[in-house]
Amino acid sequence: MSSPRMALRWRHFGQGVALSQLLFLLCTWQLQAQIHAPDLPANGLPFDFYSRGPYRSDLPRPSDFFGYDTGDFLTTFALYESLLREYQSHSDRLRVFTIGKTPEHRSQYLLAISSPSNLARLDEIKEQLGSLTDPRKLKAGPALDQLIQKLPIVVWLSYSIHGSESAAFEAGIQVLYQLLASNDPALREALDHAVVLINPCQNPDGHERFATWYNAQGSGQPEQYAYEHHEPWSITGRLNHNFFDLNRDLISLSQPESKAATRAFLEWHPQVLADHHGQTKEYFFPPPAVPINPNLPERTTIKWLEIFGKSNAGAFDRYAWPYFVRQMFDLFYPGYWDSWSSLHGATGMTYETDGGGPLGYRWRRADGTLLTLRDGIAKHVTASLATVTAAAANREARLRDYREFFESTFKELKRKFYLVPGKGTQSTAELVSLLMMQGIEVSRTNGDVQLLKASDYFGNAPGEKTIPAGSFVIDTAQPYGRMATALLETETPEDSDFLKRQETLRKANEAKGTEEAKQDYEFYDVTAWSLPLAMGVEAYFTDEPVRADVSAVSAASQTVAFDAAKNGSKDPEASHVGPGVAYAFEPSSLEAMRMAIQLLRRGYRLDTSKDPFHAGNKDMPRGTFILWAERNPTNLPEVLSELSEKNGVPVQSIHSSFPDSNRRGIGSETDFFLKAPKVAILAGDPVEQTSYGLLRFLLEQKCGLEVIPVSLENLTRDVLDQINVLILPDGQASQYKKALEENQIGDLRDWVGNGGVLICIGGASEFAADPDTKLTPSRIVGSDEKSDASTEKLPAEARQKPDHAASEKKESTNHKPIEIPGSIVKAKVNRDHFLTIGYDSDILPLFVQGDVFFKPSETGGNALTFAGEKLRLSGFFWEGNTEQLLRDSSALIDEPLESGNVILFSFQPGFRMIWTSTIRLLLNAIVYGPSQPQKSDD
Ligand SMILES: [Zn+2]
Repeated sequence: MSSPRMALRWRHFGQGVALSQLLFLLCTWQLQAQIHAPDLPANGLPFDFYSRGPYRSDLPRPSDFFGYDTGDFLTTFALYESLLREYQSHSDRLRVFTIGKTPEHRSQYLLAISSPSNLARLDEIKEQLGSLTDPRKLKAGPALDQLIQKLPIVVWLSYSIHGSESAAFEAGIQVLYQLLASNDPALREALDHAVVLINPCQNPDGHERFATWYNAQGSGQPEQYAYEHHEPWSITGRLNHNFFDLNRDLISLSQPESKAATRAFLEWHPQVLADHHGQTKEYFFPPPAVPINPNLPERTTIKWLEIFGKSNAGAFDRYAWPYFVRQMFDLFYPGYWDSWSSLHGATGMTYETDGGGPLGYRWRRADGTLLTLRDGIAKHVTASLATVTAAAANREARLRDYREFFESTFKELKRKFYLVPGKGTQSTAELVSLLMMQGIEVSRTNGDVQLLKASDYFGNAPGEKTIPAGSFVIDTAQPYGRMATALLETETPEDSDFLKRQETLRKANEAKGTEEAKQDYEFYDVTAWSLPLAMGVEAYFTDEPVRADVSAVSAASQTVAFDAAKNGSKDPEASHVGPGVAYAFEPSSLEAMRMAIQLLRRGYRLDTSKDPFHAGNKDMPRGTFILWAERNPTNLPEVLSELSEKNGVPVQSIHSSFPDSNRRGIGSETDFFLKAPKVAILAGDPVEQTSYGLLRFLLEQKCGLEVIPVSLENLTRDVLDQINVLILPDGQASQYKKALEENQIGDLRDWVGNGGVLICIGGASEFAADPDTKLTPSRIVGSDEKSDASTEKLPAEARQKPDHAASEKKESTNHKPIEIPGSIVKAKVNRDHFLTIGYDSDILPLFVQGDVFFKPSETGGNALTFAGEKLRLSGFFWEGNTEQLLRDSSALIDEPLESGNVILFSFQPGFRMIWTSTIRLLLNAIVYGPSQPQKSDD
């Protein structure tokens, strides 16, 4: 295969290359133009991938099999699979397991590599390692000691979770070859003591998108402005098929790739995990940055991160390769692979290499030297193999500390979490199911439980509480109790020195001039994720012993619990819908919303009630869906029976419109007809890819709604006329402003005026609140009052007084929110607004991130506001800034514009599929929005 870099060969003959090498390279080029030499580092020392010989001759080298040298071309997943089949049929050190399928039907593999004798007893090894995690089953004593003496250590190496980080994928191929083919005594001995599990590509769909694009476009141009370094929006190989970042998905396990890999992890019980990435300027390996999740046992966690870090350091120093440790990549958020695996007992590590990915085959650094994909691969291969040999060399000590992780969990953890099904039965069942996927044991109470000192999630003083029978209890004295705590606790405290340092940085930034460059804060990701708050589950916790009879919840019994939770039954009789003049079902769950969407899509006519009413011996809440027999096809009862059973949503048959009490009945002049939503979502720049991916995933796959992605250039007046809902996902407000031309904004305004519903998320809401767009009168907190349209409403004398304007400006710049990394905040629910239909509580915890807060709308509705004392429930707030500026701001605004609405979400509903309690708000906007009564022709 011809080299894509041929034309550029001359550029990298640096001054450090010896004349003989130059002549050699020149000759090779003239004689064999098809084979080209590797780009050499400035010091002229090339990395030799095949220096760990002797090699077995029956296994082809990747370069021979593929027809190109490592780093000269990106290997597609399909080609990789053919190499894997070749190795599988010829190697006695390899077992290949298919652990799942991706959304694009690619196989997910887990490769087990070890000595033939270890491979012959893999099931036994798995089972014995599993017994180490449970001191209830295997107590300390000679049997345990014997096991630790003979068990191999399990090392999990995963590559390319971010599919565009190409060096990681290529490195995985090399590591596989080295482990299978090298007869280097050190490697062979390591395989006697270790089972290496390779997840060769955690994100095959994203990898294939990127590799195919880059192979077509990449020519090795090192200039940073070259097209090949700027991956198009629609490629974004970092993300999986659904445009999810898989290295943030391990809390919600929403993606099939995450489910498959974590299931395999829990089956194998690895002691070491290294997750290979590629997006830094220099190589990174642990020890990581602070904060470290405090649910981890600090001393042993750090001890092992240092041991593996130093082992990598030794290997890198031999090549004089620069690297960094203890910066940027922390171990705090439990949804990355390193922290997730650490909370499950492994030494979990992130490795970041420098070459490849968006830097392509070749990249010119600022100092003029060249960084190549090959360099990036070489470093990952070196780190991977150093990790395997270090693990094998420390096998027994690491296994002892692995066991100690679980023993200390049982000894130290006293907390119990109680989940009460209550009204949020559905979300409780979902949370229980998620905890079980995380390997966490859950029990169910058989009777009421009296707690003396139960704490809730809203900061109230602990007190007595009766937990009703049928609630779920998670006792953290269990193997994965640390993970359970990390997911369920209200707040995970951050390192106090780390927090002090952020305050110091803030003071330094505040002392700087307005135009002076500010220092970045060191938060790497969000600071709060408490699942009961995010999923809307009533929960309590206490350290009291469980004084109640409980039964373990198994996967099977949990399914039963889940079905019961759906208020329905698998019994078709129970969901049979008899004849009536009308049918009604409550909008009380996501399932009910999904059922309404299914009916609308099939062309059935649905009304909805603006107010509560009484019919069929039942109180029905506002937003109830009503289907009149007279206005629908005669098969309506059958269709309702079918959908009621499928969704677990009970349907009331109403036999007369005349109410059976003295309250209003099903008929009402205030009810209105629901238009079927025809929804488009903006795709392409300036949209933020993960927001777009999340919105499509939750609407299409979770709610059964059809959504049409449209790019800005195709969003014409004609297209707008065909839809009634348009979603603008999160994105930078300034980019939105740049991308949307004035006439396009005018078209949007006209379309909303004619009845369209424009739903804006995050940065798109900030864009819609920009006075220049004239989309809404909403404004953000701390926006320049002078250019604010509301200033125009000031009395004339106030506008004329320069002093007033100046002091107001100063005031407003002093009161700009400082960006927060992501916290949980208490919002007040306006239960008269259509956007909050289905919410029973006056309080809704919300996930708040960034520095854009919205002033309450004076013209429209404020469906959610941050009102009251102590808004912060969990996560980081800036003292004297966040709480004060959030207070009385609005989180969800509905700005009516003539016959339509502009709906501003200040936050991302459904964030990372962790925040399932907020999905409902978005569905309300879509299902009820286009039919709001202000649009009727009165
Ligand atoms: Zn990455």
